Amino acid sequence: MTTDAFKALTVETLPVRLGKLEAMRSRVGDDIAAWTVREVGDGNLNLVFIVEGPAGGVVVKQALPYVRLVGDSWPLPLKRSFFEYHALTRQEARDPGSTPKIFHFDEAQALIVMEFLSPHIILRRGLIAGNIYPKIGRDLGLFMARTLFRGSDFHMETKHRKADLALFADNVELCDITESLVFSDPYFEAKLNRHTSPQLDSLVAELRADRDLKVEAQRLKHLFAANAETLVHGDLHTGSIMVTEADTRMIDPEFAFYGPMAFDVGMALANFWMAFFSQRGHEKAPGDRERMRDYLLGVIVEAWSVFRAEFSHLWRTERTGILYEKSLFEHQGDRLASEQALDHVLHQLFDDMLGFAGVECHRRILGLAHNADFETIEDADLRATCEAKALRFGRHLVVNRKAIHGIEEVNNLAGLIE
Ligand code: ADP
Ligand code: MG
Ligand code: MG
Ligand code: MG
Repeated sequence: MTTDAFKALTVETLPVRLGKLEAMRSRVGDDIAAWTVREVGDGNLNLVFIVEGPAGGVVVKQALPYVRLVGDSWPLPLKRSFFEYHALTRQEARDPGSTPKIFHFDEAQALIVMEFLSPHIILRRGLIAGNIYPKIGRDLGLFMARTLFRGSDFHMETKHRKADLALFADNVELCDITESLVFSDPYFEAKLNRHTSPQLDSLVAELRADRDLKVEAQRLKHLFAANAETLVHGDLHTGSIMVTEADTRMIDPEFAFYGPMAFDVGMALANFWMAFFSQRGHEKAPGDRERMRDYLLGVIVEAWSVFRAEFSHLWRTERTGILYEKSLFEHQGDRLASEQALDHVLHQLFDDMLGFAGVECHRRILGLAHNADFETIEDADLRATCEAKALRFGRHLVVNRKAIHGIEEVNNLAGLIE
């Protein structure tokens, strides 16, 4: 089907259309009449099918030529599937075992056949349910350090890095979504915005009139757009992580592009802080989410600490690219210089990460794409109380990030706002 014009799959047509693929038959079974197909896409953009049969199951993800959440009035290129495929292969090479295995890619049909993660669930749903996953802080920290470091000029051969930068530079439309939806729309009355109203109206007006906040948000957008530092996942929130107690996988990197390392880290941690602020909205009895709240702050500390430690380890052992060359430092016996440079890099990354975390909190409450952590709180007053805390927290991070010195300090602030 590679050369055929694009056609969206349906539950009915999938077995016939994909039934000849060895990648499917060997994993699902040769008798396509015995395949069962379900469409399970709960995301904003694409079709996701689970195909099961006598031999096992696979997932088929297919892009649509428009934004699923909005419909065909908002066209979006199929080539996002190409970027997702290439990002997945790079992430697998840089942090083996952290993504679903890829079995087949068809560029014209914009589809990826991949490992069916089961009994995994989306982390965000697990956190809303109050589940504790002991490994996610560590796995997320390692994933971010390995993919971000190994995709950058700290590590890669410059020829490969520049070629890869060129390849992903074409992911224009998905970058444009982030540029608008994350960095600009939340800060004015953009058409697709919504918020819990009227409860948040006055706070929203205050934020949209906040000059310091808007200038800082635009400085962060500038960084996002202009600092092509590494291959970022681009959409690394708790809805892009699938988990069991024993396993963690990162999915859905269709927004991948060369951008600042701190973007992935900030977006990821922001979603844990928002989960923290949402917990009171999910209490069945007063205080019954206290353990969950402590757990979430602990995940943030662990993810950041593991990120730092692994990044530092890679700095010392895999710094083979064009930056901070060892010939200038270690090879002259000056290890202190390389450690000093590492401190600068990590300090800047921390500041930027906090800024990106702050805007992520804002866009999830003021913009188009809200998150289920808050959305599933049915009582609008209670939801607004939780959201207001995250908005104030986000504002503090964006405006005051340079005066914050460690991850524990951020968690203390979150606790105080609570
Ligand atoms: P979108 O880009 O539209 O957000 P996702 O890649 O996030 O699509 O997938 C949407 C949903 O499909 C996920 O939330 C998850 O429930 C399910 N899903 C996606 N990939 C897999 C997989 N490999 N195994 C099991 N379920 C998956
Ligand atoms: Mg998704
Ligand atoms: Mg997606
Ligand atoms: Mg500082």
